[in-house]
Amino acid sequence: AKSDGRDTWRHFEKSMGQEVRSRRMMEHELRYAIPREELSLAYQPQKKLDTGETIGFEALLRWSHPQRGNVSPAVFIPVAEESGSIVTIGEWVLERACADAASWADNITVAVNVSAVQLHSPDFTRTVHEILVRTGLAPHRLEIEITETALVRDMNRALTTLRQIKALGVKVAMDDFGTGYSSLSNLRAFPFDKIKIDGSFIRSVDTNPQAATIVKAVLGIGRGLGLPVLAEGVETSAELEFLSKELCQIGQGYLLGRPGPIDRFADQTAQNMPK
Ligand code: C2E
Ligand code: CA
Ligand code: CA
Ligand code: CA
Repeated sequence: AKSDGRDTWRHFEKSMGQEVRSRRMMEHELRYAIPREELSLAYQPQKKLDTGETIGFEALLRWSHPQRGNVSPAVFIPVAEESGSIVTIGEWVLERACADAASWADNITVAVNVSAVQLHSPDFTRTVHEILVRTGLAPHRLEIEITETALVRDMNRALTTLRQIKALGVKVAMDDFGTGYSSLSNLRAFPFDKIKIDGSFIRSVDTNPQAATIVKAVLGIGRGLGLPVLAEGVETSAELEFLSKELCQIGQGYLLGRPGPIDRFADQTAQNMPK
């Protein structure tokens, strides 16, 4: 029985070692992902719910690894954040997204996810400014999506950076609204231009009275503060109907368009040439 326990422990140590090694391996591979051209962006349309018109696209990072295949950002972003490579990767995303958006019709915006590490890196504002200059994208057409976890790390620093970013003319959206610890006080403390309600609330809005009540309340807060609200993860027509009835302005989700390479949306990004 004793040796059983020891074996279990040895096995535990061994598998821990494997986990650490495979994480180190992924960190290592991520450093080469840019030069090896393994990263790409998928875009997902953001649509006005009253007219169905596309008003912007969210850029979603994709990593296609020669052996691992497509790795989910939910898996590799945390690894990149921990190793710090998210700063370089995030710059690549911003540059690619702004360069792409500069070729779209000039009323279409691009939303880019920015992680905590990136937001708090010393040159973030200057990097954003330089990318806007290099790509020629009008600043108001770039929106950065920030989650609460990115803000709570160092509130004062985050506030300073968001103010600098906004002074450039760039928009700021609060991502995953409702999933953090103090969404309401953060909404008041930081200068957001938009609220994105997390998909977990939207998914059950048509079946769960509590979720419906919460979403209605968030829409009321948005109206009161004069901030547009975007519903994330809209998958069914019942969800869409609820949101339209409650006057939610913007939606995003599989029902309205799955993320994909930008050429798939050529009809929605095209410049309308004046006749
Ligand atoms: P997020 O910012 O909340 O992005 C929305 C996620 O929901 C995306 O997953 C999107 O593909 C997915 N989604 C869209 N519509 C639907 C729907 O109708 N139903 C369901 N079930 N899912 C839907 P994805 O692309 O796997 O990204 C996961 C997360 O990884 C993102 O969550 C974001 O936090 C992070 N991420 C993605 N790209 C970047 C990036 O460039 N930088 C950083 N820092 N994070 C990123
Ligand atoms: Ca997002
Ligand atoms: Ca989300
Ligand atoms: Ca549902």
